[in-house]
Amino acid sequence: MQLGKEKKTYGLDRRHFMQYVASISAISSPVISADQTVNHRPSFKDNPFQLGVASGDPLPNGVVLWTKLASNPLEGDGLPNEAVPVAWEVATDEAFTKIVQRGSTLAMPQIGHSVHVEVNGLKPFHWYFYRFHTGKETSPIGRTRTAPHPNEEIERVRFAFTSCQHFESGYFNGYPHMQKEDLDLVVHLGDYIYEYKGVDNRPRKHIGQEIKSLDEYRTRYAQYRLDKPLQETHRLFPWLVTWDDHEFDNNYANLVSEEDGVSPEEFLARRKNAYQAYYEYMPLRRRSLPKGPNMKLYRECQYGQLANFLVLDTRQYRTDQPNGDHQKPMTGKVFDPNTTMLGDGQENWLMSRLSQSSSAWNVLAQQVVMAPLNRGLGESKRYSMDQWPGYEYSRRKLLNFFHEKKISNPVVLTGDIHVNWVNDLQLDFQNEKSPIVGTEFVGTSMTSGGNGGNVIPEYERAAAQNDFVKFYNSNRGYVSCDITKKSWTTHFRATTFVDKPDSPVFTPASFVVEEGRPGAEKA
Ligand code: FE
Ligand code: CA
Repeated sequence: MQLGKEKKTYGLDRRHFMQYVASISAISSPVISADQTVNHRPSFKDNPFQLGVASGDPLPNGVVLWTKLASNPLEGDGLPNEAVPVAWEVATDEAFTKIVQRGSTLAMPQIGHSVHVEVNGLKPFHWYFYRFHTGKETSPIGRTRTAPHPNEEIERVRFAFTSCQHFESGYFNGYPHMQKEDLDLVVHLGDYIYEYKGVDNRPRKHIGQEIKSLDEYRTRYAQYRLDKPLQETHRLFPWLVTWDDHEFDNNYANLVSEEDGVSPEEFLARRKNAYQAYYEYMPLRRRSLPKGPNMKLYRECQYGQLANFLVLDTRQYRTDQPNGDHQKPMTGKVFDPNTTMLGDGQENWLMSRLSQSSSAWNVLAQQVVMAPLNRGLGESKRYSMDQWPGYEYSRRKLLNFFHEKKISNPVVLTGDIHVNWVNDLQLDFQNEKSPIVGTEFVGTSMTSGGNGGNVIPEYERAAAQNDFVKFYNSNRGYVSCDITKKSWTTHFRATTFVDKPDSPVFTPASFVVEEGRPGAEKA
């Protein structure tokens, strides 16, 4: 989804594509060497925990604990080029009288003194408190929760999801309300940052030019993470994160830039910077450590027999938009079996995980709209070529798979588009009688697009003319989901403004999906 910027595509054929994939090996990973200089008595000019703490990727026996040392986060990290020992503790109480796990690690300069501790030995589906120490400093106390045991028949899971938090568009007013909800997990579907340069006369302003270097990406993340409501929401819940396009570059596809004249080498070098900074700032497991300009972010996170989250990456492996970007009829190349939204590796993984899943609800946490929203006027049907309908071959293959393999209650969570939708996912959308095989909930943006609640004629039209649309709303906010074995309830939470802090919140609608009956009904 672009924000006031025209996209052009860089034409890249298969041969060039393969050449540049080979060049990936020439771009090195952040190397964590054994002979790194370690400063055993670090002292800091300023509080090194200004970026806060976070946790994520919960498992039944543990979770990732995150922090990133920086005494001057907006101007490099302000630390010398040496490793810094960091101790960590996990307790069952906030006063840390019952410490259950502790250890120490090194904050390495190669990954911006970020720390990603993978704690084990915890109890399933329990709350814990954690903190870090370095030198004489102690971090804020974080709170986190492990996932249930995979065989456990848990009664309910509650989580919130959001996406698209363009800093300049406003204040992250949904987060203080999210913090008050009783949640096991927060899911972020991408556009965590935006790459654009700072622009005057907006509620807030990005530091610097459009970000390209590693230091520029780092500074941008620091600027976002210093936002109090965002940092506090990381402190209070475990997060399951994935990216969309703006963590790197608007509407990119694989190695293809939105701008003309960017060589694939240049683009890959930039992607390496973008992916590394993302890793540094997110509570991710070591399995996601980038290798050059590649980073494996798709993964599974199971919540007992109730819900299985399949976290997808629809940007890194997709072929270039088969029909180019923008809105076009669904014709020609969108049906080409050589095009792909997920890439073969991820698609095979997804289908195999779905086939083997024993969970009641199978949740696809992903980026772009899956329902074929026709936004055209009258006879001229137009679909967004950056979203799943631009990759109709992949879209039909996945929906057919849901149907043929009788996948248990597929629910698709979507970000990117900055408005809410509820869509019934029909096997064949051109045939009214075709079965519904899944349900799609599209979260709006946290801030992107400004205050919201306005009339967007193109979307109003799409909501009216596509029968599978059950709900549309243009407010900013987030989405809160409450899952039990029998039903899934989605509450759309909306803020009234983002151009200043402290907005109230309201719930424009709630929807229910009954187990065994795909498609949503208004609650
Ligand atoms: Fe966005
Ligand atoms: Ca996006």
